Amino acid sequence: MSATANFDPKKALLEKIRTQGGWVNAHSHIDRAYILTEENFALSNSSLQQKWALPDQFKAAATVDDIYSNMARAVEMMCAQGVQAVGSFIDVDPVIQDKAIQAAQKVRDNFKNDIQIKFINQVVKGVMDPEAREWFNIGAEFVDIIGGLPEKDEGHEAEHLDILFEAAKKNGGKMMHVHIDQYGMPNQRDTELLAKKTIEHGYQGKVVAVHSLSIAAQPLTYRQELYEQMKAAELMVVVCPLAYIASHRSEELAPIHNSITPVEEMLAAGITVGLGGDNINDIYMPFADGDMWSEMRTLLEACYIRDLDALADIATVNGLKTLGLN
Ligand SMILES: [Zn+2]
Repeated sequence: MSATANFDPKKALLEKIRTQGGWVNAHSHIDRAYILTEENFALSNSSLQQKWALPDQFKAAATVDDIYSNMARAVEMMCAQGVQAVGSFIDVDPVIQDKAIQAAQKVRDNFKNDIQIKFINQVVKGVMDPEAREWFNIGAEFVDIIGGLPEKDEGHEAEHLDILFEAAKKNGGKMMHVHIDQYGMPNQRDTELLAKKTIEHGYQGKVVAVHSLSIAAQPLTYRQELYEQMKAAELMVVVCPLAYIASHRSEELAPIHNSITPVEEMLAAGITVGLGGDNINDIYMPFADGDMWSEMRTLLEACYIRDLDALADIATVNGLKTLGLN
């Protein structure tokens, strides 16, 4: 090969990912993929907190078959791009009740030869409200991994986490995936709380922080101390880069950073990081299509990562670890 021969790093990276078995989409919500309508598209610039309630209309009206067909379409789209495993949250709450559970069981049965799927319960109504808690307990029994969203129970984040840990232990020691530090704001330090709670509950190596975006808004000394705490807790992280680009502008002051979790620092600290595609064509991310390369491209540019082996691991083996599939 001549010294001036062209090198195509995208091609090289895609080949590495293929030889490692294909993409792992470690975070998604396939039960509400493809539910965008022309009506609710107009609301897609609402705050994250408002969006938590916006899919309720669909969830209340949808049949199990409606949910199943959206989920199946998402899984087929992933298989078509060579995804070997996917972790998907499914809503289990007073609005959708057990409809997504029933659809998920059908997906498990129908796609078991095509892709590895791990289901995680989404607690979009929190776990403090008594009715929401009942549905959380039902979801916790069905799923492979216990899911959390402490921001929904604002002011009770520690209590929310305690309830998740107790449910995970009660249901045979299931792993946990927790939406955490989603706001990208310096006043939010919930990843630290999650690391502390993980150690307190003796759950090292079984907990995954999903997003941890607010870490990027913390000063360097805090970040470095936090990475040590995360390592002590054996906390893993899943990032969904395109979702972070949609963070709204704020006048808060913080260290200058791209709107993304500091993945390059976490890798240097020895923390396992996986990649997720998050929402698909819904009120949260109307234009998202579940394309894993788009997520990877955004990650490697925003965190300026040029180590192709590390990137291939993020896209494959690390994702498997976060789903308990290694
Ligand atoms: Zn999510």
